[in-house]
Order: sequence, then structure tokens, then C-alpha cells
Amino acid sequence: MQKILNYINGELKEPTPAKWVDNYNPATGEVYSLIPDSDERDVQNAVDAGLAAFPLWASTPREERSRIMLRIAELIEQKMDTLTEAESIDNGKPLWLANKVDIPRARDNFKFFATAILHEHSEAYQTDNEAINYSYHTPVGLAGCISPWNLPLYLFTWKIAPAIAAGCCVIAKPSEVTPMTAFMLSEICIEAGLPKGVLNIVHGLGPKVGAAIIEHPMIPAISFTGGTKTGQYIARTAAPMFKKLSLELGGKNPNIIFADCDFEEMMKVTVQSSFSNQGQICLCGSRLFIEESIYEKFKTEFIARVAKLKVGDPNEKETKVGAIVSLQHKEKILSYIQLAKEEGGKILVGGGEVKLDGRCTNGYFISPTLIEGLPHTCRTNQEEIFGPVVTLTPFKNEEEVLMKANSTQYGLAATIWTSDLKRAHRMAHKIHCGIIWINCWLLRDLRTPFGGMKQSGVGREGGFEALRFFTEVKNVCVKL
Ligand code: NAD
Repeated sequence: MQKILNYINGELKEPTPAKWVDNYNPATGEVYSLIPDSDERDVQNAVDAGLAAFPLWASTPREERSRIMLRIAELIEQKMDTLTEAESIDNGKPLWLANKVDIPRARDNFKFFATAILHEHSEAYQTDNEAINYSYHTPVGLAGCISPWNLPLYLFTWKIAPAIAAGCCVIAKPSEVTPMTAFMLSEICIEAGLPKGVLNIVHGLGPKVGAAIIEHPMIPAISFTGGTKTGQYIARTAAPMFKKLSLELGGKNPNIIFADCDFEEMMKVTVQSSFSNQGQICLCGSRLFIEESIYEKFKTEFIARVAKLKVGDPNEKETKVGAIVSLQHKEKILSYIQLAKEEGGKILVGGGEVKLDGRCTNGYFISPTLIEGLPHTCRTNQEEIFGPVVTLTPFKNEEEVLMKANSTQYGLAATIWTSDLKRAHRMAHKIHCGIIWINCWLLRDLRTPFGGMKQSGVGREGGFEALRFFTEVKNVCVKL
């Protein structure tokens, strides 16, 4: 059985002591590799390596940091097929999706930040004829980067790339549910010649390895993506140590559809924004609000399209909905479908597990599920399900839909479909979310700020915001 290894001080290492956790292929339900069950001793080794590497890495010319990172991007490109396959096996997502979205984006994350640092500038302020101030950014030191399982390499590199580009050394932990491509990244970093200790990857369980990173006094900045509950623990723990925090947390995103939208385009994209990656994208629209006058038309057409989505083996090209990431998560989603029924919801399509033949007989599959007839205040409409489940709710006017859209504790993303530009802007300004898509979804420009409000998080990733997060700004005032 393949053993995944930690990457500490430039070397691939077994955990201390050599204990392992099973890694499952969710499409088959089989254990196919072993994950290090690391603990605080491995984290301490990683911290020692990072601290030793930091002075040199922080003072390495940015052209050189950029060159090494571009080499990493190049190697990701060269290994696209093996990385794609590994991501699909580990996560259950369709192979074509990993190939189209996940791995190209991991490559682009390195490219983006490798080149961004070549275009940075610092600020200067003249105080009349009295003084001149200049402000500049220095890397914060060691950064802790912890990521979830839904877009494994994509989100892992979205943190690591800006951190090392900024001159930090990193202690990173991928999700224990999807560790494989992070392990492959460590092999790539060795091949690319990343100096030892600059990136350290410690695999293992959240409450053990993750907590040891959060609690470590020598890690002053934490970039975390994951659930709101874990984020609350991190905020509670990190606050007394005054650590810098970037928290990208859960969502319950509204998708608001007005009667004057481009119906065909909206329909095509809404199928994607509801069920891509089995609905396990933090940006998926899980609450669909449809203007009353087109509700029946929308419902009929949406049901027809969703019923046609093929749930199947992630290896098959026709598969649109692959496996749910784990048995535990499958059970959680099914419990929410049950809750929706108890709350009075009517299942329009789907509503349960799918049993496949062949190699996927024991895999974890759920059919895309549409539910109507629920009040916006019920638990199904308030809590994050993070699966292929969406609710349909009609609305009469802007005021009503705004109130309902803003009624959850979350504030990550919202989608608005309308051809009335004034209305689109008006709504965008009034919705309590960090990211608004108008007549599109997941159209990403890596320069833009990315993140949520309320319980969806603190801070923003993306572009120079991400680079700045991994630095401290210093102002120097010189009297003229
Ligand atoms: P999770 O919070 O359970 O785990 C995320 C990571 O945190 C994992 O690596 C896990 O091992 C680690 N972790 C768990 N407990 C920890 C602890 N006590 N201390 C430190 N680390 C700990 O989340 P998940 O189930 O892996 O991911 C799904 C969640 O992520 C959803 O809520 C989803 O909305 C969210 N998410 C948010 C974004 C965003 O950009 N806002 C993007 C993707 C996913």
C-alpha cells in the first residue's frame, strides 16, 4: 500500500512515531493509500526547518524566488495527467473536471504569484516640506496554511504560492481526506530546487496536526480555508497570541433569478453553479430564488436538465456528478435531505443515494436533489449542506428577495441574473456577501479580492491582498 510522506526540511519523511491513517477512494469505498498520522513533534520539526530557512529565503532576490516558483508551475503542467488522475481518485470528482479546473488552477496559482512579486511597489508620502515617509512590506516569518478537501491542490497552492512568493517559509497541512496531490507537490518542489525548509508539509488529522500549527507560538500568520466551526476554534485560539488570520469559511449562497434574465444562459450556468464538484464548492449557489412570474417555467426546465445529469464513475467522460468525498460527508448530506422532508420540503428530483454497478458498487454517490416548498428560515435553508442539494423559492420583488438572501449567518457569494444593469448594481450593493457574480458564476480573475463576510470569514485572499497578508508593513519617517 502506498505511503504518503511528510515533506520536512526538503526531505520526505515518515511521521514520528510511524503511525498511519487510511486514505479512501470515495468512488470505490476502498482504502488505497496511507496518510501519516503526524503530531506536534512533526510540526515542531517543520517549524525548526522553516525558521532555519527563513533568513535566507526572505533575502533571496525576488527574481530568484520567481524563477523557482515558475519551475514548480512548469512541473505541474508537465505532470498534469498524473496529478489529474490522483486528484480524481482522492476526491471522487470527475476526471475531466480535475483536468479542466483543479490542476490548471494549481499551476496558475504558482505562475500568478511568481510574476506578481515582480510588479510590486511600495508607497511614499511627503509631509509638506517637513518629512518624507516610505512604507515597505517584509515577510511575516513562518506562515501556517491549512486547506480543505473540496478543491485539494487548487486551494492548497492558493495559500502556499503567495506565502512563499512574499518571502515566508510555510508549514502547510492539506486535508487528511485528500492528501495525495499535496504529497505529489512535495516531490515537485524537490525537483524544482525549492531550498529546503521553505515549504514544509505535515500530513495528519485536524485536531492534532492542524491544532499544533494553530497553537504554535512561532507561527505568526495563519491562512485557513475550511468549515466555520473550525474557523471559530482557530479565531479563539489565535486571538490571545495576536496572530494574523485569514479565514475562508462556509457559505449558503443565494442565486437570484429575475424574469428578465437571459433564460438559456442562466439555465446552463445555474445547473453548473448548483452541482459542479457534487455541489462541494464553497461558491455553489444552494438557495435558488426565482421571480414568481417565471417560477413554473424555471422549475419545469430545471427539473428536466437536472434529471439528465449523469451520476457515475469519475473516470467516465459522460459523468457530470462524481462521488461524494467521504462516507461521513455522504451521511451528512443524506441527513439534510431527510431534514428537508421533515421540514415540509417537496423533493422534485433526486433525494437519495445512487448505487452504481461495477467498480463503484461501494462508492459514495448522491443524486442531484431539488427541493421546494421550504420557508427561508428553516434549517435546510440556513445551514451549509455542501453537497448536490439545492432549494427553490419563488419571490415577488427585490425587497423580499434581498431580505431572504441576507437572512443567513453566512456571506460568501451571491449570483444575480437580470438584464437590468441598474438593478444588478443596486442588488450587488445591498447583498451582504464578499463576492457577487452578475450573469455569470465562478468567472475568476486572480487579481480580485476573494472572501466572505459574517460567518463566511475574515480577510481576503487573491491578488496583492494575499501577498500583503503574508507581510508586515513598516513605515519609515525621515525629517527633511
Ligand atoms: P474542516 O474545517 O473540517 O477542515 C479544513 C481543514 O482544517 C482540514 O485540513 C482539517 O484537517 C483542518 N482542521 C480540522 N480541525 C482542525 C483544528 N481543530 N485545528 C486546525 N485545523 C483543523 O473543513 P472541510 O470539511 O475540510 O471543508 C469543507 C468546508 O470548507 C466547508 O464549510 C466549505 O464551505 C469550506 N470552504 C470554504 C472556502 C472559501 O473559500 N470560503 C473554500 C472551500 C471550502
